[in-house]
Amino acid sequence: MTKSELLDKLNEGIKTFSEADQALIMQAYHLAEEKHSTQKRASGEEYIVHPLNVALNLINLNSDRDMIIAGLLHDVVEDTDTTLDQLRTDYGEDVAMLVDGVTKISKMKTANIQERKAETIRKMLLAMIRDIRVIIVKLADRIHNMSTIEYMTKDKATRIAGETLDIYAPLAGKIGMNIVKNRLENYALQVLHPGIYADIDHYINATEGESQVMLDRIRQTISARLSANHIQFYIKTRQKHHYSIYLKMKKSNKKINEIFDIFGIRIITDTVENCYMILGMVHSVWQPITGRFKDYIAAPKDNGYRSLHTTVVLDDKRVVEIQIRTKEMDQINEYGIAAHWFYKQGDLPKVTDFAWLKQLNALNNKQMTYEEYYSIIRNEILQEIIYVFTPRGELIELPQGATPLDFAYQIHTNIGNHCRGAKVNGSIVALETELPNGCIVEIITGKNASPKPQWLKMAKTLSAQRKIRHELSMQKEFVPDKKRLPTETDKSVPRADRTPKPEKTETSEHTPRIEVEGQKNLLYRLAKCCNPTKNDAIIGYISNSRGIIIHRADCRCLAHITDFDQRRVEVSWSEKK
Ligand code: MN
Repeated sequence: MTKSELLDKLNEGIKTFSEADQALIMQAYHLAEEKHSTQKRASGEEYIVHPLNVALNLINLNSDRDMIIAGLLHDVVEDTDTTLDQLRTDYGEDVAMLVDGVTKISKMKTANIQERKAETIRKMLLAMIRDIRVIIVKLADRIHNMSTIEYMTKDKATRIAGETLDIYAPLAGKIGMNIVKNRLENYALQVLHPGIYADIDHYINATEGESQVMLDRIRQTISARLSANHIQFYIKTRQKHHYSIYLKMKKSNKKINEIFDIFGIRIITDTVENCYMILGMVHSVWQPITGRFKDYIAAPKDNGYRSLHTTVVLDDKRVVEIQIRTKEMDQINEYGIAAHWFYKQGDLPKVTDFAWLKQLNALNNKQMTYEEYYSIIRNEILQEIIYVFTPRGELIELPQGATPLDFAYQIHTNIGNHCRGAKVNGSIVALETELPNGCIVEIITGKNASPKPQWLKMAKTLSAQRKIRHELSMQKEFVPDKKRLPTETDKSVPRADRTPKPEKTETSEHTPRIEVEGQKNLLYRLAKCCNPTKNDAIIGYISNSRGIIIHRADCRCLAHITDFDQRRVEVSWSEKK
């Protein structure tokens, strides 16, 4: 859009504000235009198109007057001679605070780009703790920068896209602005993996028509039933965004044509009661897949997301995900706190409303390096939370991506230090296995077990890493006299075979040896459906009671195992016969 088109949109977008507010917004626009008049964007356009786009993004996100003004002025302090004091005098404390929150730190002594990046993020997050609107202004800025990222050098684009995936998209998710999160992720994917993005795009375009036919049939069936019961509703078809398709392919090691829920149905109704009524109707028409039903209405996600999700099998055996929610939920699921403003005018969320903001706040009192700060934000605070259980049923909260080692150290430092194996839902898993939400974790300890250097990579939380590092440094000091090293009775057993010997079920009846994520001697069976033989590409499924079931990687059965993604494990034929 040209500058004058953008300006028209701005005028149009602020019509709902009072005349005085409109005048102040336009005053800010003119100041920004004048101050940036000598600058150009990397695209060659006049610089002012950037603040204008940011302000328009903010209008679309239901922002208030001061946020729109801050959007127009967000770069004047960083890039021109304007001072925060000037903004404070002319536009008030809030505008100055919002602009300050998104202004980069330029006068830092260190030239280290990592440190500057971490310090800039820290400053923004601190400002956000005081006023959550800061992050929305920053996200509006980031959306426009990502949409014009093709004009940046490859290096810079890669760095910005990485930071977007590490920090900004998850932040958007944390405040429930999924519409922003998805856009940012898609832009980043386009920069980081352009080939994959293009493949996904091509596949979606090629299959859209066929899927639409299927979705239309479902719509008709649902519509007929609901209308007969006089239930208020409308139906949207939805498409999984590129980045989440990419994640799913990566996580489950599947090709795009094996991802079945790219297109789905969303039923929007007026009341919670109707949501459950519609769910019952859907399940009475089509068979639901066990384990795929999620009730996020009774148990909302920690960012406020509420919806019912179910996956059903159609008459032609195709499967489709159906989401059911109220209109208000639908708004909040997409716009997060911006929708909350819409529904309850004027109520700004506070630090105490969000557990992760409290955690973030608590970081201020902790000593850590820039690297550690960035890592704890990225890997812990901005991750989704998973809930796992001890065998006695105690609930432990961990960031998504956490492994049995993080769990062990969270329970007690000694448990971590003496960890020699772990069971998830009763089955042995490798120590670096990502824990699935809701699982039961049992740590197998050994008197002589002690941390290994590779544990530093297997643990995802900073607190576990610190404890491992500490213990490793203790070991080092003692290495010369070897007293702390474990003394095993049978010294001829090769090292790899000494680690977890968990169950008596470990038998020699399996002639081929299998290695599971680097560990041998685990209970496993070869699947009867595909009978894998040596040199076949294989994949493991962690069963509840029968150990790891080894399938051929191309086994057709896998598609029918509903929790396969959560329970898959990398396996390979062991070299040793
Ligand atoms: Mn900017």
